[in-house]
Amino acid sequence: MDSLRELFKIGNGPSSSHTMGPQKAAQKFKDRNPDAASFRVELYGSLAATGKGHLTDWIIIETLKPKRTEIVWKPEVIKKFHTNGMKFFSLNDSREVLNEWLVFSVGGGSIMEENEDRRGGNKVYDLSKMSDIMKWCDENSMEFWQYVGSCEGEDIWEYLKKIWAAMEEAIVRGLNTSGILPGELKYPRKAQRFYKKARMRQTRFAINGKIYAYSLAVSEENAAGGEVVTAPTCGASGVVPGLLKALKEEYDLSEDEVIKALSTAGLIGNIVKENASISGAEVGCQGEVGTACAMAAGMASYILGGTLEQIEYAAEMALEHHLGMTCDPVGGYVQIPCIERNAVAAVRALDAANYTLFTDGKHRVSLDQVIVTMGETGRDLNCAYKETSQAGLAKYYQELSKYFKPEK
Ligand code: SF4
Repeated sequence: MDSLRELFKIGNGPSSSHTMGPQKAAQKFKDRNPDAASFRVELYGSLAATGKGHLTDWIIIETLKPKRTEIVWKPEVIKKFHTNGMKFFSLNDSREVLNEWLVFSVGGGSIMEENEDRRGGNKVYDLSKMSDIMKWCDENSMEFWQYVGSCEGEDIWEYLKKIWAAMEEAIVRGLNTSGILPGELKYPRKAQRFYKKARMRQTRFAINGKIYAYSLAVSEENAAGGEVVTAPTCGASGVVPGLLKALKEEYDLSEDEVIKALSTAGLIGNIVKENASISGAEVGCQGEVGTACAMAAGMASYILGGTLEQIEYAAEMALEHHLGMTCDPVGGYVQIPCIERNAVAAVRALDAANYTLFTDGKHRVSLDQVIVTMGETGRDLNCAYKETSQAGLAKYYQELSKYFKPEK
């Protein structure tokens, strides 16, 4: 598996696959083609279907400036390697092609060329199955965060501190901003109001209110194109920080505990990325918010004193109960259902952790099995439910919305 540096990345929303990946590809192509007079970029599959709402065209044009760029939308072209394909062309003054490059945005901000190995191999981690990692931890009397440290080296802790700082900054910015998110949906930000209400409560609902508020804050920042951390993607970036911030405050966690918890979450996300997919365009939202919920559940279990088995169980349970979840962003914006879905998944992750702490950690379906199931389910999902905005809520919301007044 790859380093957690490839999973947790700081960048601008609203989508790791539709903005961060294309931005990275555009920058590479620009650097390789300094003599181009202009560029043309063809967008394929899901990138073309929801690229407008996800700001794909905008980020590519901005990155390739000052040269002029023409964007050609081809949603009907679906490449076998991955649906998020894009082809860059550099042109001379006569608009003849000088150079071309087919590249794919495969999720979480990563880009790959056709036929590159989708798995990270054993570049940094020699083990990629949870069962093997648990065995290693058992035999060495270690915890998951210690396995991360042994594979990544000591400098991972400084990197994770930066990641946590960026997550907290996104929460603070989100809580301090109100108004309407960019785009045609006129979707109102809610994090600030949720936070004010959560502050007033003294019951179990107080922590839920804070988890909602913090997750909303990050997801709203993401939807506004603000800086967030992929966890594991931009669309699902609110779940892990939202829950971690609330637990940090609730239990007065030290920075050291926060970073160890974050590494536990990262390890779980990495296992999903390696053995299935974290790309909504490839496997639906179960791979994005479902994975984020599994990461957050395992993280919460660790914070609450869970054993290796209970942490694994919490992650498994969280992913299992997102199996089959489709990706159908209304209007192509990472807003409905994405923002609310992050907040609900963060509380669901805490519930999964709590549930498993009442058990001895024994259970029937393993995390490894549910990950394989998720990947297969995702590949079997009709393309219309994988970040194309052609079905589900994206289809029916537009039809039904004429009967409702816009939300205030
Ligand atoms: S529905 Fe889920 S996978 Fe699809 S854009 Fe929204 S958060 Fe991402």
